[in-house]
Amino acid sequence: MLQDKIAQYTKEIEQFTPASAADVENFRLKFLVSKGIVKELFEEFKTVSSEEKRVLGKVLNEFKQLAETKFQESQTQFASAAKVHKREEEDLTLPGDGFQLGSRHPLSLVRKEIVEIFKKLGFIVAEGPEIEDDWHNFSALNFPPEHPARDMQDTFFIKKQEGNDIALRTHTSSVQVRLMEAGQPPFRAIMPGRVYRNEAISARAHCFFHQVEGLYVDENVSFADLKQTLFHFVQELYGEGTKVRFRPSYFPFTEPSAEMDISCSICKGAGCNLCKHSGWVEILGCGMVDPNVLENCGIDSKKYSGFAFGMGIERITNLKYEIKDLRLFSENDTRFLSQFETEII
Ligand SMILES: [Zn+2]
Repeated sequence: MLQDKIAQYTKEIEQFTPASAADVENFRLKFLVSKGIVKELFEEFKTVSSEEKRVLGKVLNEFKQLAETKFQESQTQFASAAKVHKREEEDLTLPGDGFQLGSRHPLSLVRKEIVEIFKKLGFIVAEGPEIEDDWHNFSALNFPPEHPARDMQDTFFIKKQEGNDIALRTHTSSVQVRLMEAGQPPFRAIMPGRVYRNEAISARAHCFFHQVEGLYVDENVSFADLKQTLFHFVQELYGEGTKVRFRPSYFPFTEPSAEMDISCSICKGAGCNLCKHSGWVEILGCGMVDPNVLENCGIDSKKYSGFAFGMGIERITNLKYEIKDLRLFSENDTRFLSQFETEII
């Protein structure tokens, strides 16, 4: 009798507790395939009287539902078990997937080193925009109207407008102007940043490079303070015993102005290609802030004085790592970059 068979199989399904994935598969083969029991009972259902059909139709559908649900539940149970099992079989002694750890860019390393040295002397870090107007980049810094640095040869102009051109800054001195305009002394700050010059790119020149400038303005600041600060700086950067010498120079924004040389860090003064056998290499320009610049920024030049200095980070980096081609800094060739210190942040 169909009804008895349904009752018997229902009991079997309800008691079915698979012990393995194979049991689940056997269950499927027994009940759910095209020649399985469910199909068989539906075939038999066609042969019963219409009176029985009315009663058994619902029962048979419920039986089918039960078989399918049981199968799905059992399958899920063993699918996750199979996954766990697979993990256990993985060979944990195999070498891992290698991935390359990045390294700090040499310019970032050197900038950080410079900033750290001046921070210890109480200098704060100041930053400003890379797109500047004529006032902040030139006029406030005492550049005469016909100064060659304003020429198209050197400056990337963005917008020419009468009296106040907009351009990419040619030095970070513009940040000094912004800093002084915003307050009153004392100022003790360094300004690291990228600057732009309209020059042909070669091993020795690039259209952009990086500077760190420094500014110290207070009462009674003298050239001796400038020398002592920079002397300390190079002892920290290149090691104790590094000699310095100052040569008179000219910059529109400082008076007097000087360029500072250090004893060659490569040959220690004995003479090599880097120092052109002189034993000295130039590393920065400096001087006492021109009183006109202080006045332009709203600072009383009779009460206050200050010094400023500026250096190219590329130049300092070249002296440290002997990098002969400036273009390497911006090509992002990993063969070059991976030679520098890896630092996990
Ligand atoms: Zn040398």
